[in-house]
Amino acid sequence: MENKKQLRNWLDAFNLEHPLVIAGPCSAETEQQVLHIAHQLKDSDATVFRAGIWKPRTRPGNFEGVGALGLKWMQKAKEETGMMITTEVANPNHVELALKHDVDILWIGARTTVSPFIVQEIADALRGTDKPVLIKNPVNPDLSLWLGAVERFYTADVKNLGVIHRGFSTYEKTRYRNNPEWQLAVDLQNRFPDLPLILDPSHIAGRRDIIFDLSQTALDLNYDGLMIETHHDPDNAWSDAAQQITPDTLIKYTEDLRIRKEVGEDAEFKNNINTLRTKIDVIDHQLIEILGKRMQVVEGIGALKKKHNVAVLQNKRYNEILGKMILEGEEKNLSEEFILRMFKAIHQESINHQEEIINH
Ligand code: PEP
Ligand code: MN
Repeated sequence: MENKKQLRNWLDAFNLEHPLVIAGPCSAETEQQVLHIAHQLKDSDATVFRAGIWKPRTRPGNFEGVGALGLKWMQKAKEETGMMITTEVANPNHVELALKHDVDILWIGARTTVSPFIVQEIADALRGTDKPVLIKNPVNPDLSLWLGAVERFYTADVKNLGVIHRGFSTYEKTRYRNNPEWQLAVDLQNRFPDLPLILDPSHIAGRRDIIFDLSQTALDLNYDGLMIETHHDPDNAWSDAAQQITPDTLIKYTEDLRIRKEVGEDAEFKNNINTLRTKIDVIDHQLIEILGKRMQVVEGIGALKKKHNVAVLQNKRYNEILGKMILEGEEKNLSEEFILRMFKAIHQESINHQEEIINH
């Protein structure tokens, strides 16, 4: 517990308002671009300026970053605006260069968190320093991989840690570039309540129009901050053009976002209930998603039944499902009556979908 308390203190030590806002372009492109965006952000709520210098690209041939040269531009942005600066480091050489250029906060990218060997090398390069490090979730939805990276830094005596939730890749296409899987971040928050948790809505969204709503959900879930990709000319950005917003939009968003921190007598009660309600909203959303997926499979079966001329209603199969679900429900403290009613409703909807297919 003692140690966990220490983790959050680095945020306070920087005297940052809650929530912490990190903004800046996906990539540093030119000196002029870096300085221009930093100056536009100077008087915003963003206290930390971000820019990628070494860009991990999923496929080769895309812009791979300007390299160490960009660190000089960021240093200049820091001097001119007073903002702190942060960049992604992906190997010990990056760490050395970033430290040499007084980068205030380092972040570990999603493609690095997946690799315990590289995480360990970076943690060793930072051993014993008080440099704050923010660890992005791994690209795949694996909580222990994320926790493992936190632990590697922690055991290397790098104690000023935080995590960034940037979503998870999925094979099937969804409305997100990276699926949020809120539950996973909420689980991490429950395991380490004092580890600062920051949302990167930009890489979750992959597009501009849902960044505000994602950020609001994060604040409702008691996240500690936001990292939002911001560019003066998003459409012409050299990387991640579709998801970047302008500094003006960022300023508008931070004005409009509700920080559901209640003050006054029953503040704690209200804060807790708001957080729990948002958790329910997230789970309800997942329920609908999963029912939608189930219905797609049901429709696949409907098409097969049509092809092979098989009746829609298969009572034996339905009763088998029910029996199994009643037993599983019991383990979760769900009554038999509830399971029966719920599956009756699901089954009826499934039959409707299949009849629709067979009759058309
Ligand atoms: C980035 O922040 O620009 C980036 C490359 O992020 P991620 O590691 O989350 O893909
Ligand atoms: Mn990016």
